[in-house]
Amino acid sequence: MELSTHKLTFKKGQRVFKVGDEALCAYIVESGTIDLYAISQEDELIASLSKGELLGEMGVIDKSKRSVSAFAATDLELLVIDREQITKRLEKSDPIIRGVMEVLLRRIRNMLGTSHEFDEVVNHPSSDDNSIVTEGLDKIRFEKELHQALEKGDINNVYQPMVCLKSGKIAGFEALSRWNHPEKGMVSPFEFITLAEESDLIKTMGLQIFDSACKQLAEFQKARDRVNNNLSPLFMSINVSAAQLTSENFFADIFAITKNYNIDPANIKIEITESLVVDYKKVKIWIDDCRNMGFKLSLDDFGTGYSGFQHLLELDFHTIKIDQAFTLSIETNPKSLIMLEVITDMANRMNMSVVAEGIEDLKSANKLKSIGVDYAQGYYFFKPMQASDVCKFL
Ligand code: C2E
Ligand code: CA
Ligand code: CA
Repeated sequence: MELSTHKLTFKKGQRVFKVGDEALCAYIVESGTIDLYAISQEDELIASLSKGELLGEMGVIDKSKRSVSAFAATDLELLVIDREQITKRLEKSDPIIRGVMEVLLRRIRNMLGTSHEFDEVVNHPSSDDNSIVTEGLDKIRFEKELHQALEKGDINNVYQPMVCLKSGKIAGFEALSRWNHPEKGMVSPFEFITLAEESDLIKTMGLQIFDSACKQLAEFQKARDRVNNNLSPLFMSINVSAAQLTSENFFADIFAITKNYNIDPANIKIEITESLVVDYKKVKIWIDDCRNMGFKLSLDDFGTGYSGFQHLLELDFHTIKIDQAFTLSIETNPKSLIMLEVITDMANRMNMSVVAEGIEDLKSANKLKSIGVDYAQGYYFFKPMQASDVCKFL
């Protein structure tokens, strides 16, 4: 984006722009005063702007023509704000904000436009205006539905077993949330977790997910004990977002949940990813709290760019989960195998266990076992499933 840095000067009485002009830029008043009229200076004064005030932004935002005329009320200096400086940021902003802004602009334009004959020239929404509003409103609706879904109990967990590669037995599970939407069917957590994070709903949702995962672990353990009570206790991995960790009572709340189901926090692994680590000092405090309460910590998606070596250096994890990006190419890319060997060796020497994610075939599973990877998770072994189905495999 090339930005103009220039300023424009106008003599008192000169016109800056007129109604119906293309809105190519906005302005900040640097000195002097500028008056806005419906069409000409004979009309009633709409506004008078002076140093530090912004003008001309409406047409820039919704790509429509100038809806007022502007004249220098005194000698005037204006700083030019390029259209892209505003539109590029708007494109990246939340669709709800864009949609609401679009609605507001239309309303203001209607109020301005009805008073003059240029109505048609000015009020010509560009072709994608409606899609901006629709996208924003759809998102608001989706967020409402998510709220209701949580209240109605339509957000549930499925469980994907993790297999101990040495014994071939199920060692634990990852709780993965699902939204059973009345029209859309199963909605991916990629879609609704982000939405929940944006609206703070994640705190309530996260605790609900945590609660059902702990309840379920207690039941899985009971079922396992009936079959074989000589094995190590089962564990449950639970994904946690930054917004949850930063919420005030998070650790006290999850600790209370484990007590309620008589679960040792050592059998709960809290999975976090790098995208969550914004400030090492802060995260270190959370992680220390977590460890002090006895929970285990797992670094998710290791190797994706979201979770990297700096985390291992700065923070203490019990487990690293190697991302599917490495395990999927283990057969085709010799470098993947080397990297897996190195990561596993490093983890062993740092006293961490290793989980390989996304295992889809026997060959990969055997290779990982031969390298010394502790646990494997993937469709080859088990897909995520309903709790009632898990008991058949314990
Ligand atoms: P993740 O934590 O990396 O979870 C692993 C994802 O890989 C899951 O997708 C799982 O179904 C999928 N997967 C497992 N084995 C295989 C395989 O062999 N091949 C392939 N192609 N995929 C496999 P899912 O359930 O759609 O979850 C997506 C992401 O949503 C999760 O990625 C996690 O980041 C997030 N998520 C899920 N549940 C929760 C939750 O309760 N809280 C939070 N904060 N995030 C969650
Ligand atoms: Ca995970
Ligand atoms: Ca993962």
